[in-house]
Amino acid sequence: MINIQKVRADFPLISQGAQKKVPLAYLDNAATTQKPVSVINSINTFYETGNANIHRGIYDLAQQATQNYEIARTKVKNLLHAANAHEVVFTRGTTESINLVMQAFLAPRLRPNDEVVVSAMEHHSNLVPWQVLCKQCGARLRIAPINDKGEVLLDEYAQMLTEKTKMVALVHISNTLGTVNPIDEMTALAKKQQIPVLIDGAQSVSHRAINVQALNCDFFVFSGHKMYAPTGIGVLYGKAVHLEAMLPYQYGGEMIQTVTYEQSTFNRIPQKFEAGTPNIAGAIALGVAIDYIQTLGLPNIDAHLKQLLEYATQKLSAIDGVKIVGTASEKSSIISFLLDEVHPHDIGTILNESGVAIRAGHHCTMPLMRRLGVPGTARASFGVYNTLAEVDQLVEALLKVQKIFKSL
Ligand code: PMP
Repeated sequence: MINIQKVRADFPLISQGAQKKVPLAYLDNAATTQKPVSVINSINTFYETGNANIHRGIYDLAQQATQNYEIARTKVKNLLHAANAHEVVFTRGTTESINLVMQAFLAPRLRPNDEVVVSAMEHHSNLVPWQVLCKQCGARLRIAPINDKGEVLLDEYAQMLTEKTKMVALVHISNTLGTVNPIDEMTALAKKQQIPVLIDGAQSVSHRAINVQALNCDFFVFSGHKMYAPTGIGVLYGKAVHLEAMLPYQYGGEMIQTVTYEQSTFNRIPQKFEAGTPNIAGAIALGVAIDYIQTLGLPNIDAHLKQLLEYATQKLSAIDGVKIVGTASEKSSIISFLLDEVHPHDIGTILNESGVAIRAGHHCTMPLMRRLGVPGTARASFGVYNTLAEVDQLVEALLKVQKIFKSL
């Protein structure tokens, strides 16, 4: 069980927001989460007492910084149940991790008429890179279709997997609909044919247990800032066999072994993929965020988010004029909706006056909006500090929106 008052007190922005004249209900966690004080303090502590560049220093401070950075890598390895810490590459976030795989893994092996398979609900960052690469190579991007509830049609997906398929890239939890995809089953279907699989875990890693070895995916990517860590730090997990065979993504310092004016040899993994000075403080803070969620317990966080989703679904469904977009049987912590004829941006703007922070628009899934025949949605998404009272605040604010538009 989550001790919600204690959790709220851990997040300065949440506890201070609650004191405001119009109390803040922060319901935009799919965009980014707030940070607990332990994460914020770890950044201060690093710059106040531990700042040095890593991997090269021979003095104590640099060795300590290196050690803390590598401890953070081990924490990520443990979180994902990876076999080795060197399978964890620090990046700027999900987007960079996917671009890295696109350029360093798939680009050299994709040929004309090959195929890449994604689902119809991908975030632009797990769609555009593959789309651009397929265009460059004369390959074909295939979109696994969904039903109107926002669930992937598994039979159609399975039929798309052939000897032409060179990559499957799938979102674990849709940032727009909240659909939890059956990634175990979808990955197994691809692996049966030795097709490499990338999982976009941006919306799942903060509350679902991930075991990349059991899943047998080739790549798993996520961003720190959606799991209570800072922006500018993220992760690419890749099977060692792939990372070792891949060419570097960027060239420069850190990623080399030897350099002459004529040629260079490259470092071992994961340093081969971490060119330049990395976000050291960010990586360490990500480790602290992992400690935080593990102390609360992933199953406890997930149960809390589930309770919020169920309550919100029940309350919003009871409002005449609300249409929930995305009604998959497996959903998590995200609820998209429409209200009468009110444009989602107007909903968001008026909710803001009641202290309710939600997202409105296409949520970086424009093709999905088109598929569902909506211009955009209003989206509430929950974090570990949200309460049922904040769902009530959302509902009351929505009734106000309705009243305003009915009086026009
Ligand atoms: N995939 C999903 C499912 C997401 O929700 C997001 C962020 N909204 C991304 C990818 C991109 O993450 P980032 O902007 O942190 O790179």
